[in-house]
Amino acid sequence: MATESTTMRNIYLDHNATTPVHPEVLEAMLPYFSRKFGNASSMHSSGREAKAALEDARAGCARILGCRDSEIVFTSGGTESDNYAVKGAAFANRNRGKHVITSPIEHHAVSVSCEFLEKEGFGVTYLPVDSQGIVDPDQLRKSLRPDTTLVTIMHANNETGVIQDVKELVRIAHEAGALFHTDAVQTTGKIAYSISELGCDLLSISAHKLYGPKGVGLLFIKSGTKIQAWNQGGGHERGRRAGTENVAGIAGLTRALEIAARDMAKETAKLNSLTTRFYERLRECVPDIHINGSLEKRVPNTLNISFKGVEGEAMILSLDMKGISVSSGSACTSGTTQASHVLIAMGLPGELAHGSVRFSFGRSNSEEDIDYVVDIVAQEVQRLRNISPLYTKSGN
Ligand SMILES: *Cc1c(COP(=O)(O)O)cnc(C)c1O
Repeated sequence: MATESTTMRNIYLDHNATTPVHPEVLEAMLPYFSRKFGNASSMHSSGREAKAALEDARAGCARILGCRDSEIVFTSGGTESDNYAVKGAAFANRNRGKHVITSPIEHHAVSVSCEFLEKEGFGVTYLPVDSQGIVDPDQLRKSLRPDTTLVTIMHANNETGVIQDVKELVRIAHEAGALFHTDAVQTTGKIAYSISELGCDLLSISAHKLYGPKGVGLLFIKSGTKIQAWNQGGGHERGRRAGTENVAGIAGLTRALEIAARDMAKETAKLNSLTTRFYERLRECVPDIHINGSLEKRVPNTLNISFKGVEGEAMILSLDMKGISVSSGSACTSGTTQASHVLIAMGLPGELAHGSVRFSFGRSNSEEDIDYVVDIVAQEVQRLRNISPLYTKSGN
């Protein structure tokens, strides 16, 4: 047995679950907790100051995302944006039809909203994905019907990082007269895109996945899109989302988007180099590993890897003991022993789906971290395989 000689390091490799608030984001938020605490609906000067900050933020977001100010509704995050988009669009258009199309790899915010629609009498079609985690545009074309009002397919998957060809999928949905929603929570801040170029009608964003605060996000609603308000009350957000606006959070989200856009080229290059280094070194030291999802059509920070004969949960716990934070599947489903719905939909055998670990890198990670993590992962995989009744080395 080797003895631990080094002091424990803490390495966070779970940036798809959440990210730390960037110092410049925190700075942008602070005045709205103290000096500038006004309610944006108040008529007095303190309220008008908050209202001005809110509208400046909206303009800032619109500029970066490539849409109009009036097309942005601020929400409490990705989950609310997805719920609003899916239920709001389906209900507002239900006189035209009650059929919705989605994929089997969506975040639960979308998939459970679709299940709700099914209980409310809507029909939902789940398009298959291939072994690389990609939706075939032809399958969408074949599934569209005259009563299809909405297609909801995510931009990049949170577990695998695989990116869909949203632009092409939107074109096909629009030919058939259906609206298109995409959950862009995992692409925003990681890859450059413009909403007008994607062409979608609805798009969800969450601040805390891009170094912004938790509990704030936005939904892009293309002007003219029929959508039913879901959060009801006062006339905030032009009657589309009631509730006193989270001005501090919204200022933080806006700053986070600005920083992501400013640093995109540099960060992408760094993340590509880190993930490539990690994967190549890991392949050298650990036999019988399998990368899940397309390596090419992928956000630059995510690698989902299955270790034959090892339980994902066991890996997470043993890496955690060494100060390394990773996850298996999505955070929302951990605690249950079910294999990832995403990996199962991709046709991964149960054994490999159970042995999957998601490494999602970010700003704080260095090359040194990578080399350290590879060593620890190699050591832990070997230890777990030695005690695993499931593992027999693949013959060759
Ligand atoms: C995290 C996440 C969400 C949920 O966003 P919250 O702001 O945490 O509610 C939705 N979709 C995807 C793809 C995510 O990764």
